[in-house]
Amino acid sequence: MEALICQSCGLPFSRKFMGTNRDETKNEEYCSNCFDNGKFIDPSLTLHKLEVKFIEMAEVHDEITLEAAQAAIKELPYLKRWFMRTM
Ligand SMILES: [Zn+2]
Repeated sequence: MEALICQSCGLPFSRKFMGTNRDETKNEEYCSNCFDNGKFIDPSLTLHKLEVKFIEMAEVHDEITLEAAQAAIKELPYLKRWFMRTM
């Protein structure tokens, strides 16, 4: 199955978990954890918070390896939600 990468949190998600636009169509760029009904679920989310989250996923919850966390963190600034703001 085709995996999409969320342009907000950087995590892969399947079509089932796509975010939704205001007109209830699916949004292929963001996952349902980040984007719902045409807006970001957590508007206060920052790159720094995501970095902390990835490190926690690796070190506290053992969900991913530390290498995977670091690789994901490196990609974060290039995601659509963050790219313009880091220029
Ligand atoms: Zn997301």
